[in-house]
Amino acid sequence: MPQKTQDTPMMQQYQAIKDQYPDAFLFYRIGDFYELFNDDAIKGAQLLELTLTARNKSADDPIPMCGVPHHAAQSYVDILVDQGYKVAICEQTEDPKQAVGMVKREVIQLVTPGTTMDVRPGAAKANNYLTAVLPKAGQYGFAYADLSTGELKVTALAHRFAVQNELAALSTREIVVPDDLSDEDAQWLGQGRLLSPQPAVAATAEASYVSQDLKDPLQTAVVVMLMQYLLTTQKRRLAHIQKAISYQPSSFLEMDQDARTNLDILKNSRTGRKADTLLSILDQTKTAMGGRLLKQWLDRPLLDLQQIKARQDQVQDLLDHYFERSELQERLTKVYDLERLAGRVAYGNVNGRDLIQLQTSLDQVPAIQDIIAKLDDGAFAALQQQIDPVQDVANLIRRAIEPEAPISITEGGVILQGYDQQLDTYRDAMANSKQWIADLEAKEREATGIHNLRIRYNKVAGYYIEVTKGNLDKVPEGRYERKQTLTNAERFSTPELKEKETLILTAQESATALEYQLFQDIRQQVQQQITRLQKLAAVVAALDILQSFAVVAENNHYVRPVMHAGSHAVAIHGGRHPVVEHVLGTQQYIPNDVIMQDDTDMLLITGPNMSGKSTYMRQLALIVIMAQAGCFVPAESADLPVFDQIFTRIGAADNLAAGQSTFMVEMMEANAALAHATASSLILFDEIGRGTATYDGMALAQAIIEYLHDHVHAKTLFSTHYHELTSLEESLVKLRNVHVGAVEENGTLVFLHKMLPGPADKSYGIHVAKLAGLPADLLARADTILTTLEDNGAKKAPALQATPQVQEAQLSLFEEAPAAPKHDPLLAKVKRFDLMNATPMDAMNLLYDLQKQL
Ligand code: ADP
Repeated sequence: MPQKTQDTPMMQQYQAIKDQYPDAFLFYRIGDFYELFNDDAIKGAQLLELTLTARNKSADDPIPMCGVPHHAAQSYVDILVDQGYKVAICEQTEDPKQAVGMVKREVIQLVTPGTTMDVRPGAAKANNYLTAVLPKAGQYGFAYADLSTGELKVTALAHRFAVQNELAALSTREIVVPDDLSDEDAQWLGQGRLLSPQPAVAATAEASYVSQDLKDPLQTAVVVMLMQYLLTTQKRRLAHIQKAISYQPSSFLEMDQDARTNLDILKNSRTGRKADTLLSILDQTKTAMGGRLLKQWLDRPLLDLQQIKARQDQVQDLLDHYFERSELQERLTKVYDLERLAGRVAYGNVNGRDLIQLQTSLDQVPAIQDIIAKLDDGAFAALQQQIDPVQDVANLIRRAIEPEAPISITEGGVILQGYDQQLDTYRDAMANSKQWIADLEAKEREATGIHNLRIRYNKVAGYYIEVTKGNLDKVPEGRYERKQTLTNAERFSTPELKEKETLILTAQESATALEYQLFQDIRQQVQQQITRLQKLAAVVAALDILQSFAVVAENNHYVRPVMHAGSHAVAIHGGRHPVVEHVLGTQQYIPNDVIMQDDTDMLLITGPNMSGKSTYMRQLALIVIMAQAGCFVPAESADLPVFDQIFTRIGAADNLAAGQSTFMVEMMEANAALAHATASSLILFDEIGRGTATYDGMALAQAIIEYLHDHVHAKTLFSTHYHELTSLEESLVKLRNVHVGAVEENGTLVFLHKMLPGPADKSYGIHVAKLAGLPADLLARADTILTTLEDNGAKKAPALQATPQVQEAQLSLFEEAPAAPKHDPLLAKVKRFDLMNATPMDAMNLLYDLQKQL
């Protein structure tokens, strides 16, 4: 019976390996190809647009198969990983020529969304964070790492909300979780992200090393879990992963998920791109590291007043020194991605060119130090001290590596002359021998009289003397040995040529082997300095951001905000939205003040749609974020407190994909603010309550306003189209009405985009109708109805102490009977009744009175 295809030794080996990676595509190396089999092949062919073929096509059980050439494999791996899959790379781990039986194969790396080191252009400006979440006793251990830069951070979080905020801040695509994670946790953690279970195992030396500075057992455990996962997927020592640094999200300005998306900080919420974001406006960085760190600065603005002021001083210093700043920029453009170069050194996939890039980068550092020394007033003193220029590494590379080194590190030509004596001896031997051959050629031409006689080399034949057909009669008898006959020529050798050939080839082989060994040695020496390189990279990145802030401040006319402690007062004059002003052009943009002194906690913003309410709200949040990141701000002047958190509910961005109604999302976000905001927080609520029926929504909006006003005391901007709510200004002492101004121009209403004190004009709708030319009678009638509505009191927001039931009764009464009598004495009596100071007995008496009058 013929052997089944699945049972051949190769397919058995394949299956044994595949069984260890059931959730990954297995790229199985056969010669110059990576092959995929069975289900992997069917799915892979579809995703990668490859032709699906079969192994053993004519057999009874052909195996579905597709393949990619090994040199192009990276782009296919990237495509799969981009879509959230894992790919196991399986290589032949012995030379097929030497193998007895099946060639040994092994998975050498598992590439996953959180561990991919995407080398495509553009990828360098963003970190790719792998996170780990370890729930334990109501707490969450939370760690994240970037495999390409070696950054590793850890914290412990007290609730889900905080975990969600962190996950949103890091835009993570993959979370390492314990293999016994509960279904409930898997449900909310897994939304749109890959969960990679990791069994609990004893910490290896590497995992113990990176977690050694941690004090909290939960933080240690989550770092160990993350590190073990990295080690199992990468299958190599990860010398560049830094010791874990413990952090507290609450030591930075915290933002909820809605704020991160709707403020368009790093990504535009409509397009998903970097264009038209705060980042795009502020990013004038020159290095990839600076670009990445800027994202972190905007993601985690500071809380510490001194640190904020220190950054502001540095920006100011750079603003004042134009020449030094240009010099600095010029130097920075020559600095390559130090962090990722360090990562590649550790990874072992560094080549000669990478080291030259490293050296070029390090060569800029002494000049950068000189430039900083010229900046006065001490703003940079601390930073200057942190710079270790790592010139030992630069010198080593300068001495050792050929500036024009080839990409390959196995074919020689990488190490410079003069670096190693033995290598030089081999090279001399080669060079001398080559000269000897050139001399021999001349000598033989003369001896034979064959002018076109040549001595040549190829890999198959080695060195030979070539004589064309027409000159064969001149070949000396006996001394020349025939080697090969071609159509037009014959090839010969001589004993002395053979001898020299052996000498040259051995020297060449020894030289190449030695070069490779020397290169590995140099790589190892550099590897020992990785921590220093990483520290230098961090300082350079910070400098890069500071110069970027200075450039942006100068170009866009930003001012240095005055930051104060002790009060929550806000005073921004002539503030602008940094992105909208950029899109519209500065001429078009109308600046606005935001004044919220200690007597004002809340601005209630009314105005028609498209008048600029949400732009005004976002503008404040962006100015706060910029200020706390150390950047100057778009305003004539700004006096700001340090905010601890920003909560927003802006725009109609719904979350239907996740199966929640818009209104539910709205309420959940409102709740997050109500539960977690403090008097130092900033809250932006845009049209809260819009997602449900009018009165229901208005009732909720009012209750939320009252709650925030009475219990939270956070600075709040609340926009609404419920005019009724503007009467709250009478009862809530720290609430002020503002509205967006409009004027009539050539028969249409034009929004001025200017915030003015007081509520919006309530007859705005009738005004527009008039401009649109509706009949005068109709407009007069509308006016009467409006007055009636207002007079009967239902338009006014219910008094503070009214219960929701009472509100609804009143509101629905108004809904059904808009033309109710103007003054009902009974209602007036109830209205005047001072419920707050009444005893139950007073209430009984009132009820008794009322009943008598019916
Ligand atoms: P609303 O929230 O009141 O519906 P938006 O804030 O969305 O209005 O603003 C609507 C449009 O008005 C924006 O897209 C912008 O182009 C323009 N706009 C808003 N504020 C200003 C301003 N201060 N100056 C100039 N144009 C503005």
